[in-house]
Amino acid sequence: MSELSLSLNEDQLQLQKWVHDFAEDVIRPAAHEWDQREETPWPILEQAAQIGLYGWEFMAEMMMNDPTGLSMPVALEELFWGDAGIGMSIMGSGLAAAGIAASGTSEQVMEWVPQCYGDAENVKLGAYAASEPDAGSDVGAYRTRAVYDEATDEWVLNGTKTWITNGGIADVHVVVAVVDPELGAKGQASFVVPPGTKGLSMGQKFSKHGIRASHTAEVVLDDVRVPGRCLLGSKERLDERLAGVREGKANNRQAAMQTFEATRPAVAAQAVGIARAAYEYSLEYAKERHAFGKPIIMNQSISFMLADMATEIDAARLLTWRAALMGKTKSFKNAEGSMAKLKAGRVAVWSTERAMQILGGYGYVSEYPVERWHRDAKIYDIFEGTEQIQQLVIGRAISGMRIE
Ligand SMILES: Cc1cc2nc3c(=O)[nH]c(=O)nc-3n(C[C@H](O)[C@H](O)[C@H](O)COP(=O)(O)OP(=O)(O)OC[C@H]3O[C@@H](n4cnc5c(N)ncnc54)[C@H](O)[C@@H]3O)c2cc1C
Repeated sequence: MSELSLSLNEDQLQLQKWVHDFAEDVIRPAAHEWDQREETPWPILEQAAQIGLYGWEFMAEMMMNDPTGLSMPVALEELFWGDAGIGMSIMGSGLAAAGIAASGTSEQVMEWVPQCYGDAENVKLGAYAASEPDAGSDVGAYRTRAVYDEATDEWVLNGTKTWITNGGIADVHVVVAVVDPELGAKGQASFVVPPGTKGLSMGQKFSKHGIRASHTAEVVLDDVRVPGRCLLGSKERLDERLAGVREGKANNRQAAMQTFEATRPAVAAQAVGIARAAYEYSLEYAKERHAFGKPIIMNQSISFMLADMATEIDAARLLTWRAALMGKTKSFKNAEGSMAKLKAGRVAVWSTERAMQILGGYGYVSEYPVERWHRDAKIYDIFEGTEQIQQLVIGRAISGMRIE
């Protein structure tokens, strides 16, 4: 592992301040409204695009020009400190972009990633559609089929995806589908469904517990035909890979594991941002609120809660930064990316709940932000690998055994 440095460089400090200012000035004041509306906050996406915070160039800068790996978690912590629902609306297209970058050729990345964002005058969205009604954690059980039509050099997609961020309202959908049902998770491939493709429609739009400014819906694929070039990677590489799997040749399981681990610190940093928002708010509140003639923070029971929150949040951030650094060098040993995501999700749920306790009745009503932060935090135990799936990954990594 490269050396872990806790000092941010000048560029990262500027980035942190820049995102924080946008979160404080633009996102926070709008958070309650968009949570209530349960809609994508288009005007905020436009503002983010105008300053360059929403756009493929920003993502490319974060991914490519940062040898430390810390820029992304630093930026995301600030963004989600502002609001997680709006933060997810800004970051949702990144899931599609990451899917394209993970499997696509460089030509495909250049063609499709910019289309996931559009520009400040014409903001676009991307969606990454993997989960299905009968298969979330169990990725080997996806049923959405992709069949190659040799006569037209097209792939035909059929199936239903669910819980998809930006699903059905995105311009570019990246869809994971089964090309060889006998090979389980190894018989899948990813496809780009270009804007306006016939047969792709939005199913149910979900009303959610938290991150309600982020759109989540089903995506129905009914005889969706996409050109051969929309298979991410290439047909030759896919055929070669499938032939290797059928012959029982070792596939690049280790490389895939390193890639998954590398995406987790970004999610963990979002959870740290929510936890920190709740901690800072409840700390100030505890100093101001008086009961029995003194500020409530003067009670050990309150100040110890805050002491634990500060400690846990720092622990979660340290795990996140360690994993981000390891992600740069793909040097994970014991699923440190999963450790960061597991810890940060738990800390976000726990800290926001403690913050509600500190605010008493004010913690329970929607006029104050803490109940929203608590609702938002819970998703971090669920998506991008549930709490139990992270434990499974860590359990397998530390034991070297196929824990079930
Ligand atoms: C708001 C939101 C946004 C989302 N965005 C996207 C998106 O953009 N794209 C996308 O593809 N998906 C998305 N998802 C889907 C998300 O990734 C899944 O919900 C998640 O992976 C869990 O799958 P599931 O809901 O089917 O639960 P299940 O897999 O059915 O799990 C149910 C419970 O069983 C447990 N469990 C399952 N298997 C095991 C096991 N082997 N050992 C122990 N426990 C187990 C789980 O931990 C969980 O507690 C989103 C979900 C939500 C709610």
